[in-house]
Amino acid sequence: MESDTRKSILVAGGGSAGWMTALYLNRLFNHAEKTVDITVVESPDIGIIGVGEATVHSVRFFFAAMGLDEAELMRETNATLKLGIMFRGWMKPVDGEMHQYFHPFEHQRLGRVLDISSMWFLSGRAATERYDEGVCLSAEMIKRGHGPKGPNTPAYQGVVPYGYHLDATLLARFLRKKAVEAGVVHVEATIDDIDVAGETITAIHTNTGQSFSADWYIDCTGFRGLLIDKVAPDNWDSFEDALPCNRAVALQRELAPGEAPNPYTVATALKNGWAWQIDLTNRQGTGYVYDGNRMTADEAEAELRDFLGPQSRVLKSTHLKMRIGCRKRFWVGNVIATGLAGGFIEPLESTGLHLINLAAGLMGTHLAGTAPTDDSRESFNRLMRGFYQDLKQFIVLHYCLTNRDDTAFWRAAPQTVEHTPWLKAQLEVWKHKVCEYHDLAGAFSTTFTDENYRYILYGMQHTPTLGLVADGAESDRMFSQLRQMQENACALTMTHADYLAKLNGTAEQN
Ligand code: FAD
Repeated sequence: MESDTRKSILVAGGGSAGWMTALYLNRLFNHAEKTVDITVVESPDIGIIGVGEATVHSVRFFFAAMGLDEAELMRETNATLKLGIMFRGWMKPVDGEMHQYFHPFEHQRLGRVLDISSMWFLSGRAATERYDEGVCLSAEMIKRGHGPKGPNTPAYQGVVPYGYHLDATLLARFLRKKAVEAGVVHVEATIDDIDVAGETITAIHTNTGQSFSADWYIDCTGFRGLLIDKVAPDNWDSFEDALPCNRAVALQRELAPGEAPNPYTVATALKNGWAWQIDLTNRQGTGYVYDGNRMTADEAEAELRDFLGPQSRVLKSTHLKMRIGCRKRFWVGNVIATGLAGGFIEPLESTGLHLINLAAGLMGTHLAGTAPTDDSRESFNRLMRGFYQDLKQFIVLHYCLTNRDDTAFWRAAPQTVEHTPWLKAQLEVWKHKVCEYHDLAGAFSTTFTDENYRYILYGMQHTPTLGLVADGAESDRMFSQLRQMQENACALTMTHADYLAKLNGTAEQN
């Protein structure tokens, strides 16, 4: 930004994307002295998407960096804590039991001659226990109902990394309040006209008769992509060949009396996609992400209700069409698209808010220069495209290893890997060695590293055949160290239920 004249940013849209981005840019540019005028124009008539209720763990650092009080944030959004995702039914049942595995946020790199995964295979543990239960702390913690925090754990810290489950509508409201208190201008109006010169927006006009001009326009208008489509209409890279789930039905259901919120998301494979279950303090958010070419919205809702069971009291249902893919150019002229306007990949790993966080950070660094050039734009676009491509590949990994053959959807799932050639080749390599850190060299984002890949690979039974002989004593030492760490973690933390009761002031007084 030039320091001699004050610049202006107009954020169009006030969902999570609009308010996270406004809050971030305001904190960056106006913290010490005001250098940029930031205005959010939000339609009072067009609602926010209102789903998007689970996060990855790094969103914590965003909230912390924004100076938000964690306890207040959690209370205001009916939040619970999340240690990872339990995947159910993504493979055929094993011995009549539904197949399941857990993908935690934590990374254990216990230093020995061999890494923990190789040791786990060589010691024969694969035959008797689940990979996640053998190598991480969180799987044991959730078995015992524990969250990541003890009674005095500082804000935004945990014994293991954690994310949140939170009410998306309340989150947008909370972020709006904080952004406005920090000096962001909030205009309630619907944008109904946009003036453009080439690839540059010169003004926007609203249904209240107001007009706005800014140096930069951030398109946060959700799937509409109102501003970015105006300056670059042919600008979409569809991922639906690889990831065909393009519809969702979202339900909210009451938690049953005495049902304690789980400190993890559940993702259960259904006939033509999968269902999420996200527990808040006051209700469960659930939904079915499905392939709309294989079933109707009514069939999807019926299957989801059946899955939830007749006893479920449903509070609200919403049907959504999803455009899967991302912009070829996120930043065109003076318009930058983020959130759903920038792209969307099915929310299997809860990455929507995380991608907004990544984009906001990159906007900050790219706009902070004295005069961003075409090279700045291309740099931003290359990185954003890279994040989405990496994520597409990681999500395909969850599908392509399935052995389910009960529906045409699942029979087709192994072919999704044809759209991710690097992954296809690598799966062959990973038949003969563990997935390791360097295999992911060149990835754009460090969100999902070799550790994450291993939880999915070995959870989905894509295991290597190793030609080594285990050092029994070494492996016993490693796994007894891990068991001790699990015990310590449980000793240091409270149950999730106790933590929430303490946080919300509902703990019983003795
Ligand atoms: P929206 O919430 O749609 O907001 C759009 C805004 O634009 C609104 O304020 C609207 O009023 C405004 N607007 C639109 N048109 C105009 C106009 N003409 N004038 C003025 N304003 C306008 N993400 C996660 O992190 N975790 C999850 O678990 C997760 N689950 C998801 C499940 C589903 C089924 C879907 C579809 C998404 C999920 N996401 C998830 C993604 C997440 O919901 C979004 O990334 C996030 O909510 C950001 O949405 P947004 O702000 O881009 O769009």
